Amino acid sequence: MQSVPSDARVVIIGGGVVGCSVAYHLARRGCRDVLLLERKRLTCGTTWHAAGLVGQLRATHNLTRLAQYTTQLYEGLERETGQATGFRQVGSIAVAASAARYEELRRGASMARCFGLEVELLSPEAARERWPLLSIEGLVGAVYLPKDGRTNPVDTTQALARGARQGGVRILEEVAVTHIRSAAGRATGVTTSAGEVRAEVVINCAGMWAHQVGGWADVAVPLHAAEHFYIVTEPMAGLTADLPILRDADACSYFKEDAGKLLVGWFEPQAKPWGAAGIPENFAFEQLPPDLAHIEPLFAAAMRRVPTLAEAGVQVFFNGPESFTPDDRYILGEAPQLRGLFVAAGFNSIGIQSAGGAGKVLADWVLDGHPPFDLWDVDIRRFAPFQRNRRYLRERTTETLGLLYDMHWPFRQAETARGVRKSVLHDRLAARGACFGEVAGYERANWFAPPGVAPRYQYSYGRQNWFDYSAAEHRAVREGVALFDQSSFAKFIVQGADAAAVLSRICANAIDVPVGRIVYTQWLNERGGIEADVTVTREAEDRFLIVSSCATQVRDLAWLTRGIPIAARASACDVSSAYATLGLMGPRSRELLASLTDADLSTLAFPFASSRVIDLGYARVRASRITYVGELGYELYMPTEFAQSVYDCLLEAGAPLGLRLAGYHAMNSLRLEKAYRHFGHDIGDEDSPLEAGLAFAVAWDKPGGFIGREALLRQRASGVRRRLVAVALTSPEPLLYHNEPLWRDGELVGRICSAMFGHTLGVSLGLAYVSGACAPLTREWLEAGQYEVEVATERVPARISLAPLYDPAGARVRE
Ligand SMILES: Cc1cc2nc3c(=O)[nH]c(=O)nc-3n(C[C@H](O)[C@H](O)[C@H](O)COP(=O)(O)OP(=O)(O)OC[C@H]3O[C@@H](n4cnc5c(N)ncnc54)[C@H](O)[C@@H]3O)c2cc1C
Repeated sequence: MQSVPSDARVVIIGGGVVGCSVAYHLARRGCRDVLLLERKRLTCGTTWHAAGLVGQLRATHNLTRLAQYTTQLYEGLERETGQATGFRQVGSIAVAASAARYEELRRGASMARCFGLEVELLSPEAARERWPLLSIEGLVGAVYLPKDGRTNPVDTTQALARGARQGGVRILEEVAVTHIRSAAGRATGVTTSAGEVRAEVVINCAGMWAHQVGGWADVAVPLHAAEHFYIVTEPMAGLTADLPILRDADACSYFKEDAGKLLVGWFEPQAKPWGAAGIPENFAFEQLPPDLAHIEPLFAAAMRRVPTLAEAGVQVFFNGPESFTPDDRYILGEAPQLRGLFVAAGFNSIGIQSAGGAGKVLADWVLDGHPPFDLWDVDIRRFAPFQRNRRYLRERTTETLGLLYDMHWPFRQAETARGVRKSVLHDRLAARGACFGEVAGYERANWFAPPGVAPRYQYSYGRQNWFDYSAAEHRAVREGVALFDQSSFAKFIVQGADAAAVLSRICANAIDVPVGRIVYTQWLNERGGIEADVTVTREAEDRFLIVSSCATQVRDLAWLTRGIPIAARASACDVSSAYATLGLMGPRSRELLASLTDADLSTLAFPFASSRVIDLGYARVRASRITYVGELGYELYMPTEFAQSVYDCLLEAGAPLGLRLAGYHAMNSLRLEKAYRHFGHDIGDEDSPLEAGLAFAVAWDKPGGFIGREALLRQRASGVRRRLVAVALTSPEPLLYHNEPLWRDGELVGRICSAMFGHTLGVSLGLAYVSGACAPLTREWLEAGQYEVEVATERVPARISLAPLYDPAGARVRE
């Protein structure tokens, strides 16, 4: 029977590659009082059977940074710890069997360059030179990443564990954590099979068990296991130890030389979820039964790409479980529901290649109290509480495994576990041709199909089938009037005698304004980075309505509630589901609203950035003159049960004015013309308002200051080194999505954060941070350059602007 210490500063649950990496990195930072508990033996969960591919190119900049770091770490780990890892930098080749796939690869190659990765485009013949057993039939091209590699997952984990031990970490095997202890909203330790351990920080690295481990503390860790297959052949001629990893996503297959044999693995479109009733307690170093019928078509596809496979005998049919998350991105960070409980889990089949970076940033997060850079892509706070629902996870997992190799189409929407959260207007919108997209389970109309057209996406890298319909919605907003269902907005009420004082500290802008005013503001961290982007409406002396986005609902509420001191006479309440929101936008919105209310809507009585409760039809609604599309317009807030009657009234009265329903794709096009920032893409916790061009929303000298002010003042004094600018292509043809490199006078200076075609301006638009050799960055320098955006490896001329490209003075919103 093991014994456990009574105290440790940090307890890590789980000794897979991820737990060991977190322990290693805590030790490297000098944090020695760390206890790692593994219920069986290190690597016994998923890690021991991983194929060991270590790729570097991920979907976003920061995830690529983490994977790149992993490669660098593994390169030196054996030298450092004396434990062999089997890491070898053999490179990787991804082949394309269609023009669309080749475009995807070329866009990826552009992105890779932007991230500093070495990347080469190869012809099919050149790919075959590097991979002689490859059949190039039907191939269009390939991409080669020379620094990708492979490793031995067990040895690499043991090396991390050894490095951790050398740094002072205690690792105990055969000790199961059975409960997470907490008090007053903080984790205080764990109960284990060998006694209790008090701790300041508990880290859930329990792999596919992490869902149930999180459940002990009522924390959502949305992941589900799925069966994952590979085979290993008998020794085959023509395989050398330095053969690159080969990926043929169109055949759902990857190939790795393995001691003279070939390991062939798959990411099939229809995966098999596993462990729906919970992961068996004693599961260790176990395989799942092989399912030959399931892999047969995959095998056939792999054989078409590597025909000699047909003659090779198969030595191992392997099937092992791995965890998948609803959006195919892993889960990192402090649980919003419980301070001191951190999670690193849900690695979607890339846990070996992600573990180095994930372990490093999580260790930094634990020790510094914040992530070292913007990790929103993988932040646990992106998930809504419902997403731990097992049926939802099980159904979504059938799709997410295959997504890794599926086409990563722009605007692609999930196909499983849909229809979970719906606005009360959902069915009305569906009846009018809405095509829905989903954010955290919330169905939102992205575009409207005209009568006779099916509201279904036809994906491509070019103009998709909805392009013209969305353009018409866009024009209705610019020229007439359109209605958006924005009910998915997150809404919070902060009230109490100290509400103004508390919010004033949290908000960078001045919110102690007269009742009826709306304030656009950011919430900053101590480093001056943007934690949230919200509007605050003063509803009463002691009551404020805060509006943010559906995607940040959990994050923003956590930031808000943690920002309210215990002694303050103020409370925050999430009222997102209580209120529906309709956006009535466009130059004729006032005329339409006026036909349904007696309220004085004149600019004098009801100016921009003001909010009033008015009669509308039979209802009373809060009308707020605010916009995300850059036109005269009103956001209408009403208790949800009034939304249908208000909507019906608006549609009836709007018909003679040509009122059109509009969706989120049109909104995105409209907001980019106005260069309105989007949290998560254009702004995040490492971007300051000065860098983001949002200094106008900072009340530098308000009484009591605000969180982040000192950091911001320092930055103001020294000047910024990077600046967000609006980017417009000069040619109407190419389409931007995001992550495209931005060049200035032939030098890489940034990348596109978010992008959309701007239908009024007639070209693709984006926002991008430009950094330059000159610091502080000056307007003159920014404006003097010749700019190009790289689209699928071709450079396209562009112009940049510090001001919005459409209505830079903002006259239209104030009309
Ligand atoms: C077939 C297959 C091929 C793969 N190939 C690759 C690849 O090529 N490249 C790549 O990057 N990734 C690959 N992966 C994915 C990779 O293996 C995983 O992402 C990674 O191993 C996850 O590591 P982990 O530490 O999160 O989980 P695990 O390795 O499962 O570790 C979690 C540990 O927590 C322990 N634990 C659970 N509950 C408790 C408790 N209550 N108390 C104490 N301990 C507990 C478990 O025993 C387990 O050891 C593959 C996966 C599979 C299935």
